[in-house]
Amino acid sequence: MLSEFDLIKRYFAQHSIQDSRIALGIGDDCALLNPSPGMQMAISSDMLVSGRHFFPDADPYKLGHKCLAVNLSDLAAMGAAPLGFTLALSLPEANQDWLAEFSRGLLALADEHHCHLIGGDTTKGPLNICITIFGELPPGTALRRDAAKVGDDIWVSGTLGDARLALAGYWNEVTLSESDHQLAATRMHQPSPRIALGMALRGIAHAALDISDGLAGDLGHILEKSAVGASLFIDQLPAGPVLQTQPQELRRQFTLNGGDDYELCFTAPASNRQHVIAAAAKSHTAVTRIGQIEANAGLRLVDEDGKPVKLQYKSFDHFVNP
Ligand code: ADP
Ligand code: MG
Repeated sequence: MLSEFDLIKRYFAQHSIQDSRIALGIGDDCALLNPSPGMQMAISSDMLVSGRHFFPDADPYKLGHKCLAVNLSDLAAMGAAPLGFTLALSLPEANQDWLAEFSRGLLALADEHHCHLIGGDTTKGPLNICITIFGELPPGTALRRDAAKVGDDIWVSGTLGDARLALAGYWNEVTLSESDHQLAATRMHQPSPRIALGMALRGIAHAALDISDGLAGDLGHILEKSAVGASLFIDQLPAGPVLQTQPQELRRQFTLNGGDDYELCFTAPASNRQHVIAAAAKSHTAVTRIGQIEANAGLRLVDEDGKPVKLQYKSFDHFVNP
């Protein structure tokens, strides 16, 4: 039988950390961090609950990836560079096959982003995974939700809607070929946090956030916090490669209200268009201009001819949605 301490040692405390910003990692009562001189810390938590955020039989490698990816995505949305993270894990049992795969998926993404596992807590209970992530950035450069200005362009990274389309496939709301469903499901299970783009947008973008609950609803947070409104060019929203092959109505719905996209939505002055494009190129991340910040409160959808489009939009809410 694996003890709690053996489990931590075997699966989560494998390497000594070679990073001067981490003075002490796993093994004591606290980890000790030395952020780079003059930097401000960015801190965020995200919890993933079995049966709510993922299927109970989810592939543990992909689950490890996703748990960290959604947290890294929050750092990306502020323009922060990753430092480290803690992992609070509630497990029904110490299943070694599951733990080996979960930690492999988690630590592979951690290595890719030089983001070190520095501590956590482990307990027996329903499967529940909570990560707190720590990043750093120069003071005054964070891409905050309250910083959008009238006249700003609205941009989005990557593509939208394939994760939602994959879910529709699982729920038999749509029929997809096996290969299309696989492709869309990769977006759902293994999102790519846009860390490099977020950092490259410091000093160029005004406001930003990551899209987890659907573009329309999430953009609504920027509008509210910045006390502005917006028009969105509904047919310019970049649909994922699988969603692109679907009818217009579904494309519009899932790009606008999909959820689980983990792309960045950001605003930037029109005078910075070339800088945005350069930041995208530097970070090897596609970006699309999808709208405009306006003084009139509320979100307006317009089609290619600039005509208003009526479409329901609402974001996912755990206490309202089933
Ligand atoms: P405490 O007695 O303070 O609660 P624990 O016995 O829970 O400490 O943990 C011992 C060490 O292992 C601590 O450094 C803690 O941060 C780390 N740790 C516990 N669980 C995990 C985990 N799931 N992932 C990474 N580190 C962990
Ligand atoms: Mg503890």
